[in-house]
Amino acid sequence: MNDMITIALSKGRIFKDTVPLLAHAGIQPLEDPESSRKLILETNLPDVRLVIVRASDVPTYVQYAGADLGVAGKDVLLEHGGEGLYEPLDLNIARCRLMVAGPKQPSETRGRLRIATKYVNSTRRYFAEQGRQVEIIKLYGSMELAPLVGMADRIVDVVDTGNTLRANGLEPQEHIMDISSRLIVNKASMKMKHEKVKRIIDRLAEAVAGSSGS
Ligand code: AMP
Repeated sequence: MNDMITIALSKGRIFKDTVPLLAHAGIQPLEDPESSRKLILETNLPDVRLVIVRASDVPTYVQYAGADLGVAGKDVLLEHGGEGLYEPLDLNIARCRLMVAGPKQPSETRGRLRIATKYVNSTRRYFAEQGRQVEIIKLYGSMELAPLVGMADRIVDVVDTGNTLRANGLEPQEHIMDISSRLIVNKASMKMKHEKVKRIIDRLAEAVAGSSGS
């Protein structure tokens, strides 16, 4: 058990984009998390397994050694804080932008701008760096709704095509940063299981290098 390698992934975009990279490392999941209800997925390698968790829980699983490795968006890592983790590789997948968005015709603001977001840390940092005083309202999802019901003036969210914003009468207004998913590694696993972990990191790095520019 001790030399079992556990990799934490979330369903959806990250899983789909990570599978081809894992294949390059010789790792193939035996089941698809979209159709299986299992939270632990075996792979073709007896000493490698995948665990399927909420995207925002991936850094926590890796931090507390529930998993040796994981794949998490930079947006999620910035909110988590990154304690107990190495972040050796930008996988260049699930790319999007963290943005301030708001109504096309903003209503008049009284006092401080109110920003609804689940990205509280990144939002606070962005406005503080600009010396802008804002009030942040923490939400867990569907941030687009907050300006529509008059609860906030703007939102901070990740934007890919912008379709979700447009469908709700919002527009992207300020680009905070580019986001992509990163490979993260538990610090103790990096030492204790060095050979296996290093091999996976190296093979994934090769896969990323091979797919860039294509
Ligand atoms: P969009 O293509 O801009 O309509 O994106 C749809 C929704 O998916 C957005 O509101 C985001 O919350 C989410 N989203 C888009 N890209 C990503 C990503 N790379 N990682 C996580 N969430 C994303």
